[in-house]
Amino acid sequence: MPKIYQFGCNKCDFRLPGGWGGIMYVTDDDGKRIICSHPGEMYTVYSVIGQDATHEECMNRTGFLSNCYCSDCLHQFSLDLERDTRVCEKCGSEKVKSIKESVGKRCPKCKDGKITATDTGAIC
Ligand SMILES: [Zn+2]
Ligand SMILES: [Zn+2]
Repeated sequence: MPKIYQFGCNKCDFRLPGGWGGIMYVTDDDGKRIICSHPGEMYTVYSVIGQDATHEECMNRTGFLSNCYCSDCLHQFSLDLERDTRVCEKCGSEKVKSIKESVGKRCPKCKDGKITATDTGAIC
């Protein structure tokens, strides 16, 4: 089971969602993404695409939404980095970063501190 981290700047109040950087989703018959909350992701997957889904169907219809933010306007949102284009849904900037990519990098808000991952000691 993944560890729970707290992500944020070590100098200012810029904070990103905690957890392990994102959440799993499954696509329903209309192409809508349904968030699979943890625990019990697979239960949601099977209830959406059917108990008899093949492994391939599961792979095609599930994905991982990474918590991302825009370095320009600091808007936070989720993207499937393997399927979606990296564009901020608010300002249209392409300077979109996922939490995982930003750990250890300069904070987009104060441009002074660093984004750090703090182990909260909790395991989900
Ligand atoms: Zn900062
Ligand atoms: Zn933006």
